Amino acid sequence: MICPKKKQTRGLRLAQDHVMPLRSSAHRLATLAGHHPFVVGALGTLLTLVVLSISVLTLWADRETAIEHAHDMSKNVAAVLVSHISRTVESADQSLRMLIATLDKPGMRALDTEVRHDLLFGQTASARYVTGMGVTDDKGQLADGCCSATHRWDFSDRDYFKVHRDSANVGLYVSAVYRARSRAGVEAIALSRRINRPDGTFGGTALVAIDLEYFRQLLDKLDVGPHGITAIVRVDGTLVARNPPPSAARAFTLSKSQVFPRMVNQESGFYVAPSASDGVLRLYTFQRVPGTPFIAVVAPAMTDALAAWRRLSWVVGLSSLSVSLAFCGGVWLLAFALRGRVQAEHHLRELTQTDPLTGLKNRRALDVTLENEWDRLQRRDSCLSILFVDADNFKRYNDAHGHAQGDIALQHLANCIAKHARRRSDLAARYGGEEFVVVLPDTDEAGAMQIAEAIRAEVEGSSATQRSPGLAPFTVSVGCATARQSSFASLDALTRAADVALYEAKRSGRNRVTCASVEPRAQTDHPEPPAHVG
Ligand code: GH3
Ligand code: MG
Ligand code: MG
Repeated sequence: MICPKKKQTRGLRLAQDHVMPLRSSAHRLATLAGHHPFVVGALGTLLTLVVLSISVLTLWADRETAIEHAHDMSKNVAAVLVSHISRTVESADQSLRMLIATLDKPGMRALDTEVRHDLLFGQTASARYVTGMGVTDDKGQLADGCCSATHRWDFSDRDYFKVHRDSANVGLYVSAVYRARSRAGVEAIALSRRINRPDGTFGGTALVAIDLEYFRQLLDKLDVGPHGITAIVRVDGTLVARNPPPSAARAFTLSKSQVFPRMVNQESGFYVAPSASDGVLRLYTFQRVPGTPFIAVVAPAMTDALAAWRRLSWVVGLSSLSVSLAFCGGVWLLAFALRGRVQAEHHLRELTQTDPLTGLKNRRALDVTLENEWDRLQRRDSCLSILFVDADNFKRYNDAHGHAQGDIALQHLANCIAKHARRRSDLAARYGGEEFVVVLPDTDEAGAMQIAEAIRAEVEGSSATQRSPGLAPFTVSVGCATARQSSFASLDALTRAADVALYEAKRSGRNRVTCASVEPRAQTDHPEPPAHVG
């Protein structure tokens, strides 16, 4: 049976096994971030810029889609308009053909005028778009007309009359816009065909008149947004109809634009341009009405086409901007908070490694450094020296000058040691009491002796010449030992050798430096260290 408590303990250990590495990785990451707050901040800013750029690109792609959508809509509207006009023209043409065929029927001229008119025009004239229908003779005089037969109007000046008179092969002709003199100057166009005599000579024209109001009503039914326009233009640049109608102040300018020749020469097309009349940017879609000189133009305004997109852009843009700014600000704040924490940790670590009286490293830091340097020595062919520095007769010094003066002397001694252990890899530490240790990596016996002697001389000289005001003269003894790879069995043996050397210095009269003279590997069997240290 599994003991529940044991199971819980195992579970806890498993959780710890997984959580602890995670925690230490997170801590390492946080420390790294704290060391480089500007890098972290810059990365956060970069990430923010990337996210913002993606938002901008996405919105721009959406804008293009909205324009494409508007173009598709315009194409459909233009197609509807073209189909309406085509059907009207076809139907009018059909009526013209029937009219010409009926005219030739025998006995038609002999019929009563009213009956003849009924037969010739009755059916067509009732069509919604037809506002006039008639037949002219070869002089352009109105021979028969559905609307005003009582007057012989002269149409010989009309373009359609001249075109048919001068050419037998025109077929259906769509006239230019004119003011109908039979209908009080109403603007209209005429669809006409030539009437041939049996011998093929010109016998007159048959025509159907359509008021421009009909085209305006057609355009009126098409919705292209509040600022859009629809228009029917003739290839010669005249305006057939436009919605909204051009005011006197805003004249029709499309025919004068640079793209108009393109509209005349292409079946259909699309372009974006500001209107010359009102300056509004519009998406122009144009399509030729087959078999006619008409061009259908559908042009929604860019502002209308992008209205929904603009609303979405504000929402998406503002929210992504605020989220990005908040993220960026958060990263910078976090980076500097982590830096503060790392600095505080560093300060704390320094405190735990520092001797409060002298400011040198303490015993704990010394032990760690010694272990590290010893391990390093085992890995590479170098040397490691250590110095044991001990104040001479310091008990007496204290007794003579007081403990406070003794502290000042120890601080002075620490300064002297630090002054000569200058390399980055050197370490000066207070071992305890009036004893100090200097670790000198990659330093041989001669180098170690030199530094030890320099420290000793500095202490002796500075005290004796009173360079330190209020400091009574005192001296130090130094013991050095140097290890090479495999010259000492252990770190313990090395420190013992330095201690023995210090003992020798004391024994030989103090205020001197003594170097350990040891046989390699012999230190493992060295007798117990003398009792002077500590
Ligand atoms: P030796 O030359 O053999 O080293 O003699 P010594 O008197 O220096 O050695 P001993 O070990 O007998 O005495 C060390 C003295 O150092 C005893 C103590 O009063 C003094 N001492 C240790 N730590 C401090 C300290 O922090 N401040 C002061 N003022 N004195 C200290
Ligand atoms: Mg001493
Ligand atoms: Mg001592």
